[in-house]
Amino acid sequence: MIITSKKTSEEILESVSGADTLYIVSCGSCASKCGTGDQKAVSELKEFLEKNGKTVLGNIELDSACDMRLAKKDLLKNENFLKADAVITLSCGAGSQSIAKVSEKIIIPALNSEYVGSTERIGVYKKFCGICGECILIETQGICPRTRCPKSLVNGPCGGFVNGKCETDQTKDCTWVLIYEKLKKNGKLDKFLNQYIPPKQNKEY
Ligand code: SF4
Ligand code: SF4
Repeated sequence: MIITSKKTSEEILESVSGADTLYIVSCGSCASKCGTGDQKAVSELKEFLEKNGKTVLGNIELDSACDMRLAKKDLLKNENFLKADAVITLSCGAGSQSIAKVSEKIIIPALNSEYVGSTERIGVYKKFCGICGECILIETQGICPRTRCPKSLVNGPCGGFVNGKCETDQTKDCTWVLIYEKLKKNGKLDKFLNQYIPPKQNKEY
């Protein structure tokens, strides 16, 4: 899922400075599941805005804010959504842009999209994919060195690992050692030892 983090109170206050009435749209998928767009987050945001003199006309949770069809269906007949001076979104960037695309409203995204992560337990997420567009998991036994190796090496390991641990953090396994061990276990080591993965586009992720 897309892991999001909350923008600071200062950023939100500055963004809503020209608006007296607000409406909150939250996403029931990723943002809700990672706690940045769930009912608690909505209530906290509402309370914060009201304390700062704003009127919150209401809120709605879309099943998936990034689905423009749902945004259209659920929002464009909603009087309070249409009446508000601005709309605050608790969703990833795709969700906020979907809402911006289907309506003329001023959209104020209150979250930052961080990465595609996996849930270890509630509140603890692992950055497992940076959506680089050139996936090499097929070569690396399902372990992504681009996101999980601090140097993003597509051929590894580097010379810094010690006892299987990463040179940047001795509490963490070297990603390339994990890949090596899995290749070995699955009888694919020969291929690994002779393979070279060409450099990837230095795409931001
Ligand atoms: S290589 Fe890593 S960052 Fe790129 S798409 Fe695959 S899992 Fe995601
Ligand atoms: S020790 Fe392993 S995980 Fe750490 S930077 Fe080097 S190759 Fe990457």
